Amino acid sequence: MTAYDRFYINGQWVAPSCRDTLEVFHSADETLMGTIPAGTAADTEAAIAAAAAARDAWAATPPADRAGYLRRVAAGLKARTDELAQLITGETGMPIKLARAIQVGGPVYHWGKYAELAESFTFEERVGNSVVVREPVGVVGAITPWNYPLNQITLKVAPALAAGCTVVLKPSEVAPFNAFVLAEVIDAAGLPAGVFNLVTGLGPVVGEVLARHPDVDMVSFTGSTRAGKRVSEVASATVKRVALELGGKSASVILDDADLSAAVKGTLNACYLNSGQTCSAHTRMLVPAARYEEAKALAKQFAERFTLGDPREEGTRLGPLASAAQRERVTSYIRRGLAEGAELVSGGPDIPAGRETGFFVQPTVLGKVKPDATVAQEEIFGPVLSIITYDNEDDAVRIANDSIYGLGGGVWSGDEARAVRVARRIRTGQVDINGGEFNVQAPFGGFKQSGHGRENGVYGLEEFLEYKSLQFRSPK
Ligand code: NAD
Repeated sequence: MTAYDRFYINGQWVAPSCRDTLEVFHSADETLMGTIPAGTAADTEAAIAAAAAARDAWAATPPADRAGYLRRVAAGLKARTDELAQLITGETGMPIKLARAIQVGGPVYHWGKYAELAESFTFEERVGNSVVVREPVGVVGAITPWNYPLNQITLKVAPALAAGCTVVLKPSEVAPFNAFVLAEVIDAAGLPAGVFNLVTGLGPVVGEVLARHPDVDMVSFTGSTRAGKRVSEVASATVKRVALELGGKSASVILDDADLSAAVKGTLNACYLNSGQTCSAHTRMLVPAARYEEAKALAKQFAERFTLGDPREEGTRLGPLASAAQRERVTSYIRRGLAEGAELVSGGPDIPAGRETGFFVQPTVLGKVKPDATVAQEEIFGPVLSIITYDNEDDAVRIANDSIYGLGGGVWSGDEARAVRVARRIRTGQVDINGGEFNVQAPFGGFKQSGHGRENGVYGLEEFLEYKSLQFRSPK
């Protein structure tokens, strides 16, 4: 069992102000993985005070020196890849092979990339009689979710540190252990005291103190739209900068001239990755009404290839969900979809046979889903694909945009220029053309209620910078 009982504040492992703990259960066997301290307002305030005290010296540290620390963190995480992958597989249910590549390989890459960007970024430039300086925004409160836990943490903490900000991190209470490993790695990398601080606990307690506190200059939040709205509301009292990476209900639009088999297969892969616990999962598949039967048969065939297995085994392709609450939520959505008239194409709401232990659900495809059905509108966060039919291209675009969310999506067509034309009409932050791969350097973030702000690459670094203009008298 993993038991962490200290917070990382001001370069020290310090005892929490209260003895309450939170439990974390293993996704595959439901055993207690370990406990973490439930932080209080006092713990959070201590971490904020440390970050505020460290702010000016870190901002004044040359970017090349900051880069050196980031590189040491990348190397430290890389050296602990196996341990981190095991922890995150237990926390989230992602199969170990994928966890090693995505959940650990991704963060190692980004820590290295932000070291490079710290060195190459133009922090000031001349504009007429001004020098425009990009300064760190200050103290950043980072609040993160459980589905890609170390990656979501990295996409905030690494660019914030590269930009010259100090950080207080509150990771998800569902998947927190990887954050403690990161704090150990950061400590070993020798970062100055107070530059990075870790406090765990519940969102409405620790998270809201970060959002509310006047000494926090920016809150960067990734999580549900519900909690993001609350963070925004609480943060507004101090007019601090807010970045929100929220939920999604992304559409994969399959046009009538697409290679249907490749499109359905690609859509299912983009829906079921990490058992559907992906904010940008393609959960609505839009197909021409005339090709519904064909698309349905293909979806059934491909969905059945996703056999469930123990995520700790190397060959497993689809694991369980992260928690009992998540299993309950996803199966109730499947029931709701069927009650609202969807056709069951594959899977279903029953606990899969032989998988009663562990938070497993069946990979499911619902057919003939109406665009306004609950399962077509709300984020499910499980392996559930809804097939929706449309009449013509305009209708497809209208349905794709008929969502409060605007995070991702895809367009499939035999004619790439046509796919691009349709993609330009979709109001989301990312659109994959004919299965275009995820690009870790392209901006990632949402339109509408999927949030605002962007992560990844240089776009993610710029989030943590303020502009300052210095004016000079023009020569006579
Ligand atoms: P969640 O909103 O329940 O929790 C996210 C974080 O917010 C946790 O650390 C939680 O403790 C904290 N929190 C909860 N209530 C809070 C409050 N009132 N004030 C401050 N903090 C609070 O989300 P989750 O279940 O952990 O993650 C799943 C959600 O995250 C999904 O909706 C998913 O789409 C979204 N997500 C979005 C992205 C993206 O980049 N857009 C990436 C990953 C996940």
